[in-house]
Amino acid sequence: MAHRRLKFWGWGHEGDGPNEDAQRRLCERTARRFGRALTLAPAPRLEELALRPPRVKPPAALAPICATDTYDRAAHHWGKSFRDLVRGFRRHYPNPPDVVAYPRSEQEVTAVLEWCDRAKLAAIPYGGGSSVVGGVEAPPADSCSGAVSIDLRHLDRVLEVDSISRAARIQAGVYGPALEDQLRATNFTLRHFPQSFEFSSLGGWIATRSGGHFATLYTHIDDFVEALRVITPTGAIETRRLPGSGAGPSPDRMFIGSEGTLGIITEAWMRLQERPRYRAGASVAFDDFPAAMRALRQLSQAGLYPANCRVLDPGEALTAGAGDGSEAVMVLAFESGDHDPAAWMRRALECCADHKGRFAPDAGQTRTDSSAAREGAAGEWRRTFLNAPYLREVLVRMAIIAETFETAITWERFEQFHHELMSAARAAVARVCGHGGSITCRITHVYPDGPAPYYTVTVPGRAGSELEQWDEIKQAVSDTLIRLGGTITHHHAVGRDHRQWYERETPAGFRRALQAAKRAFDPNAILNPGVLFDPIR
Ligand SMILES: Cc1cc2nc3c(=O)[nH]c(=O)nc-3n(C[C@H](O)[C@H](O)[C@H](O)COP(=O)(O)OP(=O)(O)OC[C@H]3O[C@@H](n4cnc5c(N)ncnc54)[C@H](O)[C@@H]3O)c2cc1C
Repeated sequence: MAHRRLKFWGWGHEGDGPNEDAQRRLCERTARRFGRALTLAPAPRLEELALRPPRVKPPAALAPICATDTYDRAAHHWGKSFRDLVRGFRRHYPNPPDVVAYPRSEQEVTAVLEWCDRAKLAAIPYGGGSSVVGGVEAPPADSCSGAVSIDLRHLDRVLEVDSISRAARIQAGVYGPALEDQLRATNFTLRHFPQSFEFSSLGGWIATRSGGHFATLYTHIDDFVEALRVITPTGAIETRRLPGSGAGPSPDRMFIGSEGTLGIITEAWMRLQERPRYRAGASVAFDDFPAAMRALRQLSQAGLYPANCRVLDPGEALTAGAGDGSEAVMVLAFESGDHDPAAWMRRALECCADHKGRFAPDAGQTRTDSSAAREGAAGEWRRTFLNAPYLREVLVRMAIIAETFETAITWERFEQFHHELMSAARAAVARVCGHGGSITCRITHVYPDGPAPYYTVTVPGRAGSELEQWDEIKQAVSDTLIRLGGTITHHHAVGRDHRQWYERETPAGFRRALQAAKRAFDPNAILNPGVLFDPIR
């Protein structure tokens, strides 16, 4: 198959996404939904960009793996948040990386990092570039003499599979589909499926503590990491493969979530799971969101651990095609590679019935064919979930503000927290946009001590001011959720965009310890400066 280039702006490969007819229909539907006339402005084209010339030139030995042309530099300029899409849509590319390096081996990663360290260039580790928090942007132009984006896509192999302990040694640049393809013959899976799965990498997941789409138990990448190999400017770090250890603070945990500030993860031993053979799914309707949340709490504290138990509020259920907008919906699923989860599903449905959850008489039957996950409300929700990233760039072209924010909070505070956060979001959206728009909530992950709510804002913006409008809304909701004791992110990371709130939720002494760790691994502070925390200079 011919090599397909990734879009420099937007999601996926060039040519992917809704065709012109589907775009027009989306525009008409959105206009009807918000009672506004909308037009679809043209997407940016590469020929329209005039980038600043590169400030540095790679040394001759690295030239064969480095690119300085407009496509590579523009494609590595922004991540994939709403803010990034808007800036790209405005043809705003003021501070591209000067060079994009594509190392093919760990030795080449080391060589690129040595060059950056010698020349005092900002070095930005780059996986799939799906960061939604400004994690892959170059630091301000006046803060460094050059910036190199280090794209790890060629480190894409599963190197070793240990089928006895069920783990694999995997290179960090591999994207989700290629990783799973290589494991397929082994009957194991990493079973980590963030919504960005198609175009994000193992190293990016580890560096950002990503959350997969399973709602309970093993879903954060943190739990799958058995050992790591990291290249830092002061040398390589390799941790020991262990199923668990109580030996002091964990070196793995130091790098998990370090967002490219301490070193470049080149490979990891990852825990694998058996591919699921048994699947039981059900969709449960509730009178309202509070009733669904009461059922969710009971379920999450019953030791059942469903693979999925997403609660969609009525608005979210409507947009996902999983409900008619009058009731909340819980998408419930259990799966196992080893045993029939029928008893677990039965008990989960009893928990739902305790809160007047309604489901079909044959709901929750165990299936052994993989189509089970693709049918009914669960299937509808899944299709919407996978398709959504392709629609965002079309909405941006209509000046629609479409963005999410997410958090986590303990159960005893949830009700008040959710109420106040929704009120703050509604007030901010109405004030900033002069339109109520749509603010919906779903619960993406749930723990025995609390849920992780995820909010989606969709509202017509003022063409040319959408970014500034979103920034105001984001400030209001983030201030509120931090004041109420939530976290600025359950799984979207900190990057540059969440820094001010990360600083309010973490102890100052801890942040000083992070700065000290950076000084030890990266004394010249070249790695992703300005992401997560400011280095000591
Ligand atoms: C449409 C969409 C859906 C998303 N859905 C989810 C979701 O379901 N769950 C979720 O958790 N997140 C989600 N995200 C956010 C994003 O996909 C995650 O943060 C993801 O883990 C980033 O992986 P990446 O390979 O694209 O990393 P990048 O965006 O390339 O990098 C992210 C950060 O990690 C650093 N980094 C990357 N690779 C390495 C490495 N090898 N070593 C050291 N540092 C490195 C970068 O410097 C940067 O700071 C979504 C994003 C989009 C656009």
